[in-house]
Amino acid sequence: MVPDVDVVVVGGGIGGLSCALALSRAGRSVRVLERSASFGEVGAGLQLAPNATGALREWGLLDQVIARGVLPERIAMRDALDGRPLSHLDLADVRRRYGAPYVVMHRGDLHEILLAACRDAGVDLVTDAEVRAVENGAGWAEAVGERRRDRAELVIAADGLTSTLRAQISADEPVSSNYVAYRGAIPITDVSGLADLAVHDVVVYIGPRCHLVQYALRGGEMFNQVAVFESPAAVAGQPEWGGPEELDAAFAPACDAVRAALPFLWRDRCWRMYDREPIPNWVRGRLALTGDAAHPMLQYLAQGACQAIEDADCLGALAAKDAGKDADWEAVLAGYNDARPRRTGQVQRRARAWGELWHADGLFRAVRNELLRERDPADYRWVDWLYAR
Ligand SMILES: Cc1cc2nc3c(=O)[nH]c(=O)nc-3n(C[C@H](O)[C@H](O)[C@H](O)COP(=O)(O)OP(=O)(O)OC[C@H]3O[C@@H](n4cnc5c(N)ncnc54)[C@H](O)[C@@H]3O)c2cc1C
Repeated sequence: MVPDVDVVVVGGGIGGLSCALALSRAGRSVRVLERSASFGEVGAGLQLAPNATGALREWGLLDQVIARGVLPERIAMRDALDGRPLSHLDLADVRRRYGAPYVVMHRGDLHEILLAACRDAGVDLVTDAEVRAVENGAGWAEAVGERRRDRAELVIAADGLTSTLRAQISADEPVSSNYVAYRGAIPITDVSGLADLAVHDVVVYIGPRCHLVQYALRGGEMFNQVAVFESPAAVAGQPEWGGPEELDAAFAPACDAVRAALPFLWRDRCWRMYDREPIPNWVRGRLALTGDAAHPMLQYLAQGACQAIEDADCLGALAAKDAGKDADWEAVLAGYNDARPRRTGQVQRRARAWGELWHADGLFRAVRNELLRERDPADYRWVDWLYAR
């Protein structure tokens, strides 16, 4: 049987659409199979560092991304208990240093931009298409669902943290951090009464076993927050954890500015935070992993989606080497598997360590605060490894 398309991508989140676009730009025919009835994203914010916006620029999408996002001036850290400033990273120089800006935006907007770009590039976008397994053959793989089979030269699993297809490559399970996130993205006019709002910055209040992130979206029309805390019920091994009463208790000792911001979070939904151990191999035959299916990480470096975009950029560049000819998928997958798991493993590990630093208590917190206060705002040593492409 002849493959239907060159590449089938399973999952139409930011990771799947990025891969579909990058491979389509490399001259490959691509189909995306999404299990939901429509393509979409949760309505909260997303930080995009230069390692991701550089790829978006090469795909011709950066102007749209900037037009629908915000270019923050600084990433500013404050202590969540006393509210005092600790340190900030000046983002003014980021574009010159890394060749691309730091952007914050509504996830739905980025998803829409990627979806439209896929459509324009001729990607076949299919909904209501849950994939249960992938069968590998000689030079092909087939995505198998209840009602359809899609054969391609390559199948990419972009099916997220709880990926069904990852099990065909690795037997590991998601790892609970015992932390939970509450989000909220609302009109900025709703929070105009709050004191101490720094709408031109990404602000992170770090506190013992909790933190709060705030930034503006959509050219300053919306305000986004993420509150994260360790759940005592999760630590105690209880099956139900992360309820709003735990949110309130976790932030009860926080400063006025943090407590005043909490009522503006959505309280009817929370995200329990899991990652996985890094794995060195993402490929089996003609099946390969990307995005959260490959490298789910705690979001403390704000890099999960950025790394998915990097995956896509890498795959696209490798596939473009054979432009105009049949792709040498064995070589593409070998190059991808050589480059990406090493890089994302480092990001996954450092995200965990970053969380420990943010959530420190007692003497560790006091020492951390002293060190952060001494930091030069133009000292990019801590992010060069991450933001440079
Ligand atoms: C609180 C929080 C804040 C974050 N902040 C940031 C940030 O600021 N910056 C950043 O870069 N990252 C951030 N992240 C991480 C980022 O959201 C994820 O890494 C990214 O969205 C993963 O995209 P994905 O496409 O790989 O997976 P997903 O978004 O999970 O998409 C998977 C898609 O596959 C579909 N699917 C699943 N199974 C199947 C199947 N069997 N068949 C067909 N379709 C299937 C799903 O319906 C879904 O559409 C944050 C995460 C959290 C939780």
